[in-house]
Amino acid sequence: MPRIAAFGGVYANPYALRALLDDARSRGCDALYCLGDLGGFGAECDAVWPLLVEHDVTSIAGNYDVAIGRGDDDCGCGYADERDNFHAQLMYDYTRAHTSAAFAGWMAALPRELRLSLGGVDVHMVHGSPLAINDFMWESLPDDELAPRARASGAQLLLCTHTGIAWTRTVAGTQIVNVGAVGRPANAGRCEVSYAVIDLAGGIVERVELVGLDYDWRAQAASMRRAGLPEPFVETIETGWWTTCLEVVPPRERARGAFHVYREALPAADDFAVGAGWGGGAVVATAQRPVVSLFGTALFPARLWIYSNFHCNLSCDYCVVASSPRARPRALSGERFRGLVDEAVREDFAEIYITGGEPFAHPEIVSLIEYAADRLPTVVLTNAMLFTGRRRRELARLADRAGLVLQSSIDGACAATHDRWRGAGSWERAMAGLQFAASLGLPLRVAMTQTPDNAGEVEALRGVLAQLGITGDDFAVRPLVARGFAAAAADAGAIEVSDAVMVPELTITADGAHWHPVGADLASSPDFLVARGTGVTLADAKQRVVERFLTLRQADGSLPAAFRCAV
Ligand code: SF4
Repeated sequence: MPRIAAFGGVYANPYALRALLDDARSRGCDALYCLGDLGGFGAECDAVWPLLVEHDVTSIAGNYDVAIGRGDDDCGCGYADERDNFHAQLMYDYTRAHTSAAFAGWMAALPRELRLSLGGVDVHMVHGSPLAINDFMWESLPDDELAPRARASGAQLLLCTHTGIAWTRTVAGTQIVNVGAVGRPANAGRCEVSYAVIDLAGGIVERVELVGLDYDWRAQAASMRRAGLPEPFVETIETGWWTTCLEVVPPRERARGAFHVYREALPAADDFAVGAGWGGGAVVATAQRPVVSLFGTALFPARLWIYSNFHCNLSCDYCVVASSPRARPRALSGERFRGLVDEAVREDFAEIYITGGEPFAHPEIVSLIEYAADRLPTVVLTNAMLFTGRRRRELARLADRAGLVLQSSIDGACAATHDRWRGAGSWERAMAGLQFAASLGLPLRVAMTQTPDNAGEVEALRGVLAQLGITGDDFAVRPLVARGFAAAAADAGAIEVSDAVMVPELTITADGAHWHPVGADLASSPDFLVARGTGVTLADAKQRVVERFLTLRQADGSLPAAFRCAV
């Protein structure tokens, strides 16, 4: 029974290649096949050649080998983004300058594909795909995009590399195996590299094993550093995360990595002037790395919204999540809430916003607030009308807690304006609640939802709030959003929002994870659902948000317009 080893993307990494050759022999592989791209990334370009020859490896050319063999000016990797091409060019220029003429000549003579029968199986070996040497066969490609490639081959087994991430799937009767790369880790936070061991017998593919191979990556990193190669390339070898050439990577594969966009793609702070709200994500700063993680930037703030419940003592005409006394409560249990806070700490969230419905309608709310505020800066959104009875006594417990802010909504300088949308008597009760909270020394913020009725009262309201000590940036005006009860309030100036024009702020409810708090009501904003149910972890939810962000962005090639709204 033939057992073969197939690998590609050696990328001038003789340390990994040596480990692979030993590993493949120890696994009893009868034949070794290399699918190309011998140089690029590492420093010791010529060092892989004798290993391939000594171990009798059958090789085909990758786009890199064709380019080096021909003396081309660029690697022909197939990148479309100029920043990807910039980094690719750095490595190509180094590789071209450090590859001997003899090795380049050997590469030039390599075939571009191989078709052979092994164990009675029709096997087709290519570098990119049967369509092109630099075509990317990503796992995330849907079957209807892989099928033309499979049909162009028609083999039982199609082996490829080029993307750097290993996977296997049968499409249109062809088992496709992307063997990954042996010269560079697979953007999974592990230093190991990949290749495939395949058993073929009796005309069938009996077994495919995608091998994760440990090797002396420290030696490879040291070699690159000695050669003066740029630090981001060395970092990839040392961490397993890709730090360059990310634009070519599809959203799903990119979202799994630690870095998602080029630093220079981040908008300037001024671009976030639309909407209203407090806080903004800090850009993660690491001087030499050209890419950043989306999470923790202004494009995906490290702010976790938790809907403690959805029922509310009010039924405001413009409630974006359609809360009311009759709303399905969707109250989080104390255990679920505390678990989310613990996860938020582990997942590097910088702050928690607790909202509803009216959070103070939740029977355990004060102890939940204490739990959150003990661990992360916490903002609680409340209509300030339920500070009575037991809650009034309990509120005093929160008075001295650092890092806790109460945020409320007042929509006018007088009751008539406010009550028009929120119900008779609500302005007076809310103002009384704010006065009580202020008397306890609790830090307060107020947002005014702008409508045609109150647009002229901003300054008057500012004056009213100043008497409560709410001044400066602690008062904000936010737009009316056409969601929930306000879905049809366009004549009142409600703005349409969607995930395409709104930066994500991960929001957790009893129903699941959502793109943004203004779309957290599943019934009225199903389009904002990121993951249904309570099984999704924050880590997984973050990854899904990044994937969706990148998918939306790639639809027209631009970043989503910035809109931030502290609900
Ligand atoms: S806007 Fe706020 S106070 Fe009004 S119904 Fe909705 S959650 Fe309750």
